[in-house]
Amino acid sequence: MSSEMKDITMPIYEGMMVYKNKPEKQFKSIQRATHAENGYHEGSVCMDLHTGTHIDMPLHVIDGGADSTHFDTDSVNGPCVVVDFSKETSRAVDANFLKKQSILEGDIVLIKTKNSYAEAFDFEFDFLEASGAVYLRDLQVKAVGIDALGIERNQPGQPTHKALLGNGIYIIEGLALKAVESGRYLFHCFPLKIMGVEGLPARAFLSPLPEEEK
Ligand SMILES: [Zn+2]
Repeated sequence: MSSEMKDITMPIYEGMMVYKNKPEKQFKSIQRATHAENGYHEGSVCMDLHTGTHIDMPLHVIDGGADSTHFDTDSVNGPCVVVDFSKETSRAVDANFLKKQSILEGDIVLIKTKNSYAEAFDFEFDFLEASGAVYLRDLQVKAVGIDALGIERNQPGQPTHKALLGNGIYIIEGLALKAVESGRYLFHCFPLKIMGVEGLPARAFLSPLPEEEK
């Protein structure tokens, strides 16, 4: 891999941070065969589909919404802008904040927040407020990513998820953006090709924009 590629994927391991510390969301690694007993090493994992870095499908919040079967990776790859919310005192990324950023139509917008610095799950995590989601939808951005394991909290009816996923704008959650500065990049994101589900674990990278696109 080119050294210019920056890996912005959360590592997956037993004991890692999971949404609201829920026991059913804990990652488990199951060793089924060992060299000592079987002459080879083999295992399985048990994990929530929203573990670490992952993409939400419309089905996650919309009854009858699209699942992962026909997911097109083009929808989460391309020119991207990282906006830095990490120094704001507020916990809600709203339209007022986003209006001050240089976001273009068709951009993949990655929101860096205080979550990238949290060592344990923060129940008061920074999130994208509905007004911010509506602003990004109206701007016709391509996708929205955030360094939270959930893109919204305490908003009845999940208006942030619905404003985006209801309009073909995919959501990438659980990005690791601590070492990333605000600015323009190319975003690369490749999920596992699992059919028929509402969330896809993914690997994500940033690379510099080619000179002519800066
Ligand atoms: Zn999710």
